[in-house]
Amino acid sequence: ARPLLTVEDLRTSFFTDDGEVPAVDGVSFHVNEGEILGVVGESGCGKSVTSLSIMGLVPSPPGKITGGKILYKDEDLTKASGKRMRDIRGNDIAMIFQEPMTSLNPVFTIGDQLTEAIRIHTKATKKAARDKAVEIMKLVGLPRADELIKEYPHQLSGGMRQRVMIAMAMICDPKVLIADEPTTALDVTIQAQILKLMKKLNKELNTAVLLITHDLGVVAETCERIVVMYSGKVVEEGTVEEIFKNPQHPYTKGLIQSVPDMRVKQQRLHSIQGNVPKPGSIKRGCRFAARCDYAFDRCLVETPELYETTPGHCTRCFLFDETEEGVYDGTIAES
Ligand code: SF4
Ligand code: MG
Repeated sequence: ARPLLTVEDLRTSFFTDDGEVPAVDGVSFHVNEGEILGVVGESGCGKSVTSLSIMGLVPSPPGKITGGKILYKDEDLTKASGKRMRDIRGNDIAMIFQEPMTSLNPVFTIGDQLTEAIRIHTKATKKAARDKAVEIMKLVGLPRADELIKEYPHQLSGGMRQRVMIAMAMICDPKVLIADEPTTALDVTIQAQILKLMKKLNKELNTAVLLITHDLGVVAETCERIVVMYSGKVVEEGTVEEIFKNPQHPYTKGLIQSVPDMRVKQQRLHSIQGNVPKPGSIKRGCRFAARCDYAFDRCLVETPELYETTPGHCTRCFLFDETEEGVYDGTIAES
Protein backbone atom coordinates (compact mmCIF):
# COMPACT_ATOMS: atom_id res chain seq x y z
CA ALA A 1 0.00 0.00 0.00
CA ARG A 2 1.24 3.50 -0.74
CA PRO A 3 0.69 6.57 1.42
CA LEU A 4 -2.43 8.49 0.49
CA LEU A 5 -1.95 11.20 3.07
CA THR A 6 1.43 12.20 4.46
CA VAL A 7 1.89 14.71 7.24
CA GLU A 8 5.48 15.91 7.31
CA ASP A 9 6.94 17.92 10.18
CA LEU A 10 3.64 19.77 10.56
CA ARG A 11 3.63 22.85 12.75
CA THR A 12 0.42 24.63 13.67
CA SER A 13 0.46 27.45 16.19
CA PHE A 14 -2.00 29.76 17.82
CA PHE A 15 -0.92 33.35 18.25
CA THR A 16 -2.29 34.75 21.49
CA ASP A 17 -1.57 37.73 23.74
CA ASP A 18 0.85 35.46 25.58
CA GLY A 19 2.75 34.69 22.39
CA GLU A 20 2.96 31.71 20.07
CA VAL A 21 1.41 28.46 21.30
CA PRO A 22 2.68 25.57 19.16
CA ALA A 23 -0.27 23.15 19.35
CA VAL A 24 1.23 20.86 16.71
CA ASP A 25 4.99 20.89 16.93
CA GLY A 26 6.66 18.94 14.15
CA VAL A 27 4.28 16.03 13.66
CA SER A 28 4.86 13.42 10.96
CA PHE A 29 2.85 10.34 10.01
CA HIS A 30 1.23 8.81 6.97
CA VAL A 31 -2.04 7.08 6.17
CA ASN A 32 -1.87 4.34 3.55
CA GLU A 33 -4.55 3.74 0.98
CA GLY A 34 -7.40 1.79 2.54
CA GLU A 35 -5.87 1.72 6.03
CA ILE A 36 -7.25 2.74 9.43
CA LEU A 37 -4.66 4.74 11.36
CA GLY A 38 -5.31 5.61 14.99
CA VAL A 39 -4.04 8.87 16.49
CA VAL A 40 -4.16 8.63 20.27
CA GLY A 41 -3.56 11.11 23.03
CA GLU A 42 -5.10 13.11 25.85
CA SER A 43 -6.99 16.31 25.26
CA GLY A 44 -4.53 19.09 24.46
CA CYS A 45 -1.99 16.80 22.76
CA GLY A 46 -2.60 18.39 19.35
CA LYS A 47 -4.55 15.60 17.70
CA SER A 48 -7.63 17.67 16.87
CA VAL A 49 -5.55 20.58 15.63
CA THR A 50 -3.70 18.11 13.42
CA SER A 51 -6.97 16.98 11.84
CA LEU A 52 -8.22 20.56 11.42
CA SER A 53 -4.91 21.38 9.75
CA ILE A 54 -5.39 18.54 7.27
CA MET A 55 -8.92 19.78 6.50
CA GLY A 56 -7.77 23.40 6.10
CA LEU A 57 -10.09 24.35 8.95
CA VAL A 58 -7.72 25.80 11.54
CA PRO A 59 -9.47 28.96 12.76
CA SER A 60 -7.31 31.77 11.45
CA PRO A 61 -6.55 34.04 13.17
CA PRO A 62 -5.41 33.08 15.80
CA GLY A 63 -4.32 29.74 14.26
CA LYS A 64 -1.80 29.24 11.49
CA ILE A 65 0.14 26.41 9.89
CA THR A 66 3.69 27.67 10.31
CA GLY A 67 5.65 24.81 8.81
CA GLY A 68 5.77 21.39 7.25
CA LYS A 69 3.70 19.71 4.58
CA ILE A 70 0.42 17.87 4.28
CA LEU A 71 0.63 15.76 1.15
CA TYR A 72 -2.58 14.35 -0.25
CA LYS A 73 -1.38 12.10 -3.06
CA ASP A 74 1.26 14.49 -4.44
CA GLU A 75 -0.40 17.77 -3.59
CA ASP A 76 0.72 19.87 -0.62
CA LEU A 77 -2.51 20.99 1.04
CA THR A 78 -0.73 23.63 3.11
CA LYS A 79 -0.22 25.48 -0.19
CA ALA A 80 -3.75 24.94 -1.54
CA SER A 81 -6.17 27.87 -2.03
CA GLY A 82 -9.41 28.17 -0.07
CA LYS A 83 -11.32 27.12 -3.16
CA ARG A 84 -9.14 24.07 -3.70
CA MET A 85 -9.58 23.07 -0.02
CA ARG A 86 -13.37 23.29 -0.37
CA ASP A 87 -13.03 21.04 -3.37
CA ILE A 88 -10.86 18.57 -1.40
CA ARG A 89 -13.36 18.59 1.48
CA GLY A 90 -16.23 18.00 -0.93
CA ASN A 91 -14.61 15.15 -2.83
CA ASP A 92 -11.58 13.59 -1.21
CA ILE A 93 -11.29 14.05 2.54
CA ALA A 94 -14.36 14.11 4.78
CA MET A 95 -14.55 14.58 8.52
CA ILE A 96 -16.92 13.62 11.32
CA PHE A 97 -16.88 15.08 14.80
CA GLN A 98 -17.65 13.99 18.33
CA GLU A 99 -21.00 15.70 18.77
CA PRO A 100 -23.18 15.30 15.70
CA MET A 101 -25.89 17.56 17.13
CA THR A 102 -23.67 20.58 16.54
CA SER A 103 -23.09 19.71 12.89
CA LEU A 104 -26.69 18.81 12.00
CA ASN A 105 -29.16 21.60 11.44
CA PRO A 106 -31.95 21.22 14.02
CA VAL A 107 -34.65 22.86 11.86
CA PHE A 108 -34.33 20.59 8.83
CA THR A 109 -35.30 16.93 8.54
CA ILE A 110 -32.63 14.27 8.12
CA GLY A 111 -33.96 13.73 4.60
CA ASP A 112 -33.67 17.40 3.66
CA GLN A 113 -30.12 17.61 4.96
CA LEU A 114 -28.98 14.48 3.16
CA THR A 115 -30.72 15.28 -0.15
CA GLU A 116 -29.44 18.85 -0.07
CA ALA A 117 -25.89 17.61 0.45
CA ILE A 118 -26.33 15.07 -2.35
CA ARG A 119 -27.72 17.70 -4.71
CA ILE A 120 -24.85 20.08 -4.02
CA HIS A 121 -22.46 17.28 -4.71
CA THR A 122 -24.05 15.57 -7.73
CA LYS A 123 -26.56 18.09 -9.09
CA ALA A 124 -29.06 15.22 -9.08
CA THR A 125 -32.83 15.79 -9.34
CA LYS A 126 -34.80 15.87 -6.08
CA LYS A 127 -36.16 12.42 -6.72
CA ALA A 128 -32.75 10.91 -7.57
CA ALA A 129 -31.19 12.62 -4.53
CA ARG A 130 -33.87 11.17 -2.26
CA ASP A 131 -33.28 7.68 -3.63
CA LYS A 132 -29.56 8.13 -3.10
CA ALA A 133 -30.19 9.36 0.46
CA VAL A 134 -32.15 6.20 1.25
CA GLU A 135 -29.40 4.10 -0.28
CA ILE A 136 -26.70 5.82 1.79
CA MET A 137 -28.76 5.50 4.97
CA LYS A 138 -28.93 1.76 4.37
CA LEU A 139 -25.18 1.67 3.77
CA VAL A 140 -24.53 3.17 7.22
CA GLY A 141 -27.06 0.90 8.89
CA LEU A 142 -29.87 3.38 9.53
CA PRO A 143 -33.06 1.35 9.80
CA ARG A 144 -36.48 2.22 8.25
CA ALA A 145 -34.86 4.88 6.08
CA ASP A 146 -38.17 5.89 4.46
CA GLU A 147 -39.59 7.09 7.78
CA LEU A 148 -36.37 8.33 9.30
CA ILE A 149 -35.87 10.68 6.38
CA LYS A 150 -38.84 12.74 7.62
CA GLU A 151 -37.55 13.07 11.18
CA TYR A 152 -35.58 15.88 12.81
CA PRO A 153 -32.14 15.46 14.45
CA HIS A 154 -33.54 15.77 17.99
CA GLN A 155 -35.84 12.79 17.37
CA LEU A 156 -32.85 10.51 16.88
CA SER A 157 -30.60 8.85 19.46
CA GLY A 158 -26.95 9.88 19.70
CA GLY A 159 -25.84 6.75 17.87
CA MET A 160 -28.34 7.32 15.05
CA ARG A 161 -27.23 10.94 14.72
CA GLN A 162 -23.62 9.82 14.42
CA ARG A 163 -24.70 7.41 11.65
CA VAL A 164 -26.39 10.32 9.88
CA MET A 165 -23.14 12.29 10.12
CA ILE A 166 -21.22 9.36 8.70
CA ALA A 167 -23.83 9.14 5.90
CA MET A 168 -23.26 12.86 5.18
CA ALA A 169 -19.52 12.31 5.10
CA MET A 170 -19.83 9.32 2.75
CA ILE A 171 -21.95 11.15 0.15
CA CYS A 172 -18.87 12.36 -1.69
CA ASP A 173 -17.30 8.89 -1.57
CA PRO A 174 -14.18 10.24 0.18
CA LYS A 175 -10.80 8.57 -0.10
CA VAL A 176 -10.02 9.57 3.48
CA LEU A 177 -12.42 9.85 6.40
CA ILE A 178 -11.17 11.73 9.44
CA ALA A 179 -13.11 10.78 12.55
CA ASP A 180 -12.37 12.95 15.61
CA GLU A 181 -13.57 11.20 18.77
CA PRO A 182 -16.53 9.77 16.83
CA THR A 183 -17.72 7.58 19.69
CA THR A 184 -16.78 9.58 22.78
CA ALA A 185 -20.31 10.88 23.46
CA LEU A 186 -21.86 7.43 23.03
CA ASP A 187 -22.39 4.56 25.42
CA VAL A 188 -20.21 1.49 25.11
CA THR A 189 -22.62 -0.68 23.10
CA ILE A 190 -23.38 2.04 20.56
CA GLN A 191 -19.69 2.93 20.44
CA ALA A 192 -18.88 -0.64 19.40
CA GLN A 193 -21.52 -0.48 16.65
CA ILE A 194 -20.16 2.78 15.24
CA LEU A 195 -16.62 1.37 15.20
CA LYS A 196 -17.93 -1.72 13.42
CA LEU A 197 -19.57 0.53 10.86
CA MET A 198 -16.32 2.40 10.24
CA LYS A 199 -14.52 -0.90 9.75
CA LYS A 200 -17.22 -1.99 7.32
CA LEU A 201 -16.93 1.21 5.26
CA ASN A 202 -13.17 0.86 5.29
CA LYS A 203 -13.38 -2.70 4.05
CA GLU A 204 -16.19 -2.41 1.53
CA LEU A 205 -15.39 1.00 0.06
CA ASN A 206 -11.64 1.00 0.76
CA THR A 207 -11.96 4.36 2.53
CA ALA A 208 -8.83 5.19 4.50
CA VAL A 209 -9.70 6.31 8.03
CA LEU A 210 -7.80 8.57 10.39
CA LEU A 211 -9.33 7.75 13.75
CA ILE A 212 -8.58 10.31 16.42
CA THR A 213 -9.26 9.33 20.00
CA HIS A 214 -8.14 9.56 23.61
CA ASP A 215 -9.20 5.95 24.05
CA LEU A 216 -6.65 3.20 23.36
CA GLY A 217 -9.45 0.65 23.67
CA VAL A 218 -11.06 2.18 20.59
CA VAL A 219 -7.91 1.92 18.47
CA ALA A 220 -7.18 -1.60 19.68
CA GLU A 221 -10.42 -2.78 18.15
CA THR A 222 -10.32 -0.76 14.98
CA CYS A 223 -6.86 0.15 13.73
CA GLU A 224 -3.87 -1.49 12.17
CA ARG A 225 -1.34 1.13 13.17
CA ILE A 226 -1.23 3.74 15.91
CA VAL A 227 0.45 7.07 16.41
CA VAL A 228 0.61 8.24 20.04
CA MET A 229 0.77 12.01 20.56
CA TYR A 230 1.85 13.96 23.60
CA SER A 231 2.14 17.72 23.97
CA GLY A 232 2.15 18.47 20.23
CA LYS A 233 4.53 15.69 19.26
CA VAL A 234 4.41 12.06 18.17
CA VAL A 235 5.96 10.03 20.99
CA GLU A 236 5.42 6.52 19.65
CA GLU A 237 4.35 4.89 16.42
CA GLY A 238 3.84 1.26 15.49
CA THR A 239 1.38 -1.48 14.65
CA VAL A 240 -1.42 -2.06 17.14
CA GLU A 241 -0.05 -5.48 17.90
CA GLU A 242 3.45 -4.19 18.54
CA ILE A 243 2.29 -1.24 20.67
CA PHE A 244 0.06 -3.37 22.88
CA LYS A 245 2.57 -6.21 23.24
CA ASN A 246 5.62 -4.06 23.52
CA PRO A 247 4.78 -0.47 24.47
CA GLN A 248 8.04 1.46 24.77
CA HIS A 249 7.41 5.08 25.64
CA PRO A 250 6.60 5.46 29.35
CA TYR A 251 3.57 7.54 28.36
CA THR A 252 2.20 4.79 26.11
CA LYS A 253 2.79 2.30 28.91
CA GLY A 254 0.73 4.46 31.21
CA LEU A 255 -2.06 4.77 28.65
CA ILE A 256 -2.22 1.02 28.20
CA GLN A 257 -2.38 0.45 31.92
CA SER A 258 -5.28 2.87 32.08
CA VAL A 259 -7.41 0.91 29.57
CA PRO A 260 -10.08 -0.84 31.60
CA ASP A 261 -9.98 -4.60 31.32
CA MET A 262 -13.55 -5.71 30.60
CA ARG A 263 -12.90 -9.17 32.00
CA VAL A 264 -11.97 -7.91 35.44
CA LYS A 265 -14.83 -6.38 37.37
CA GLN A 266 -14.36 -3.31 39.52
CA GLN A 267 -10.76 -2.98 38.59
CA ARG A 268 -9.12 0.15 39.82
CA LEU A 269 -8.07 2.29 36.92
CA HIS A 270 -4.46 3.25 36.68
CA SER A 271 -4.12 6.81 35.59
CA ILE A 272 -1.02 8.76 34.76
CA GLN A 273 -0.32 11.39 37.36
CA GLY A 274 -0.13 15.02 36.39
CA ASN A 275 -1.34 16.95 33.36
CA VAL A 276 -0.25 17.44 29.80
CA PRO A 277 1.97 20.54 29.85
CA LYS A 278 0.62 23.59 28.06
CA PRO A 279 2.03 23.67 24.53
CA GLY A 280 5.13 25.81 24.42
CA SER A 281 5.56 25.84 28.19
CA ILE A 282 8.47 23.40 28.16
CA LYS A 283 11.43 24.85 26.32
CA ARG A 284 14.01 22.25 27.15
CA GLY A 285 14.14 18.54 27.75
CA CYS A 286 11.56 15.78 27.32
CA ARG A 287 8.01 17.07 27.64
CA PHE A 288 6.97 14.00 29.59
CA ALA A 289 9.76 14.31 32.16
CA ALA A 290 7.62 15.77 34.95
CA ARG A 291 5.31 12.75 34.79
CA CYS A 292 7.88 10.10 33.95
CA ASP A 293 9.01 7.45 36.43
CA TYR A 294 12.14 6.81 34.36
CA ALA A 295 13.37 10.36 33.88
CA PHE A 296 17.12 10.84 34.30
CA ASP A 297 19.48 13.83 34.00
CA ARG A 298 19.58 13.98 30.23
CA CYS A 299 15.76 14.12 30.03
CA LEU A 300 15.74 17.53 31.66
CA VAL A 301 18.17 19.21 29.31
CA GLU A 302 17.91 17.54 25.91
CA THR A 303 14.91 16.87 23.70
CA PRO A 304 14.58 13.25 22.56
CA GLU A 305 14.12 12.38 18.88
CA LEU A 306 12.08 9.50 17.55
CA TYR A 307 14.28 6.42 17.72
CA GLU A 308 13.37 3.49 15.47
CA THR A 309 13.69 0.39 17.64
CA THR A 310 12.39 -2.22 15.22
CA PRO A 311 11.22 -1.57 11.63
CA GLY A 312 8.10 0.60 11.83
CA HIS A 313 8.21 1.00 15.61
CA CYS A 314 9.52 4.38 16.76
CA THR A 315 9.75 5.92 20.23
CA ARG A 316 10.65 9.41 21.37
CA CYS A 317 12.52 8.49 24.53
CA PHE A 318 16.19 8.42 25.51
CA LEU A 319 15.75 4.94 26.95
CA PHE A 320 15.72 3.81 23.32
CA ASP A 321 18.67 5.84 22.12
CA GLU A 322 21.31 3.26 21.32
CA THR A 323 24.10 5.75 21.76
CA GLU A 324 22.99 6.24 25.36
CA GLU A 325 25.63 4.91 27.72
CA GLY A 326 25.10 1.38 28.95
CA VAL A 327 22.75 0.72 26.03
CA TYR A 328 19.28 0.11 27.29
CA ASP A 329 17.87 -3.32 26.50
CA GLY A 330 14.39 -2.10 25.62
CA THR A 331 12.46 -3.46 28.56
CA ILE A 332 10.86 -1.22 31.12
CA ALA A 333 10.38 -2.54 34.62
CA GLU A 334 6.79 -2.83 35.80
CA SER A 335 5.97 0.03 38.07
FE1 SF4 B 1 10.93 9.61 30.46
FE2 SF4 B 1 13.33 10.54 29.77
FE3 SF4 B 1 12.05 8.86 28.16
FE4 SF4 B 1 11.20 11.37 28.48
S1 SF4 B 1 13.14 10.72 27.57
S2 SF4 B 1 9.95 9.56 28.44
S3 SF4 B 1 11.63 11.71 30.66
S4 SF4 B 1 12.83 8.41 30.21
MG1 MG C 1 -10.22 17.05 20.49
